[in-house]
Amino acid sequence: MTSTTPPNTIASTPDGEIHEPRLGVYVLTEFVFCPRAGLCAHETRREEEEEGPPLSFFSFNPLYSLPEIEASLQQAVNEMTWYLGGAALSAVLAVILSLWFGKLIGVAGAFGMLWFFAFALQRGIDVLRLNKQRKDALAGKHKEPNPNLPDVQDVHWWDLLQAGFESHPVQDPLVDSELNFWGKPFRYLRRGNVVIPVWRMPHYDGRLHPQNFVRMAAYCHLVQKSFGTGVECPFGIILFGHSLDGVAIPFTPQRRSDFVESIRSARTAIAKIKEREEPPAPDRSLCARCPYGKPMVHVPNESEHVCAGKPLPVKSAYDANRKCFHSLCGDRFRWLPLHEDVEKMDLRTES
Ligand code: SF4
Repeated sequence: MTSTTPPNTIASTPDGEIHEPRLGVYVLTEFVFCPRAGLCAHETRREEEEEGPPLSFFSFNPLYSLPEIEASLQQAVNEMTWYLGGAALSAVLAVILSLWFGKLIGVAGAFGMLWFFAFALQRGIDVLRLNKQRKDALAGKHKEPNPNLPDVQDVHWWDLLQAGFESHPVQDPLVDSELNFWGKPFRYLRRGNVVIPVWRMPHYDGRLHPQNFVRMAAYCHLVQKSFGTGVECPFGIILFGHSLDGVAIPFTPQRRSDFVESIRSARTAIAKIKEREEPPAPDRSLCARCPYGKPMVHVPNESEHVCAGKPLPVKSAYDANRKCFHSLCGDRFRWLPLHEDVEKMDLRTES
């Protein structure tokens, strides 16, 4: 697993004011989700992992342009042909060896044939998958979101490419040195002076949350700051899971001001925590599945968390067998977060 490295830039406004601390898109969205989550992410210097959602046996990484698909398809066909050739040659060798040296040597040749055949089968499956991707790519319709509507609009990747957008990976994080803010979208689409940031949401629960809107506004803002004058960014795209279906989130003035306001609130929360003023616990429904509140077994000298460079004392919670659990949010804010696992395991703190 890799993580994005924050860019190192000088951060000051034209009039010399420095906005501190430096914030990234991921930490900002955690603040929008819950100020305690934002502080945990900020103080542990967590950044989002760049990899997509985990691949199951039936899912595979999609490719994002027709030339990429066609090159991979050609390579898979070539490899499959070579492996099938190897399997055929091994089969002939197995027959000849068994005739000359007896059945036992022939069986060894048969293993070679099976080995080649297994690889040929694997490449054959790749060919079928890539062929399907190619068909989907060619079936895209010339369709794009209406930039004049503020509503979230459904999009499909291949429709956008048919509409003339080109897909590009993002190499380096985008930076706004005035806001002392940075972020790295998953990739971007470009058509002339229109640049659209794309984010792949690993887990989509069927709803968009406030932090998703702030994230897309942040990416749109960073695109406008980083790609130079004259660049337009009317919306950002979210793709769901492994699919190429998603939504366009228009970059409206309201969403821009929500983004700027969320940066201001995050920095206020960071300033207040230095004065030992903690944000209040949120509604318990937010904690139910929050990774910062998920209890884990306490392994002395191993599972402790380090916040702002210092190890946190453990806030212990015990199950019926006196097994000790703790969580990052629990240790940081000295409480027992109301995570669903806390209820399932009936964890209790010692009063
Ligand atoms: S466990 Fe609850 S309070 Fe803690 S970070 Fe998560 S949502 Fe916020």
